[in-house]
Amino acid sequence: MTAPAAVLTIAAEDEDGEEDCPGLSPHPAVPRPDRTKLWWIEHSLGRGRVVAHTCACQMTSYELVRCGGVYQFCRHALARRDVPPVSWTAYWWRREEAYEWWRRLLAGQAR
Ligand SMILES: [Zn+2]
Repeated sequence: MTAPAAVLTIAAEDEDGEEDCPGLSPHPAVPRPDRTKLWWIEHSLGRGRVVAHTCACQMTSYELVRCGGVYQFCRHALARRDVPPVSWTAYWWRREEAYEWWRRLLAGQAR
């Protein structure tokens, strides 16, 4: 009979001020000064499937999208003068390369 209490305790601990954060997806690290600058364009390779994504609570969120046998990133941002609301990496990668770039993006080494 103690299980419900334990669940409530965990839920309460998760509330650390970020009310809109579902807490399920990673938050990318702050970009490092020496990061690789990715080239973002306003069109995609075509319809793809999102295989990984960052947390939607952030002002800018990223998706790793698979389209056929290749991958590219999709970025959703609050529209600013220099950033369109949705953009895509101009590059596409094979699976291994794509996951390596995804890791760098999350680590703040590429953005
Ligand atoms: Zn979040």
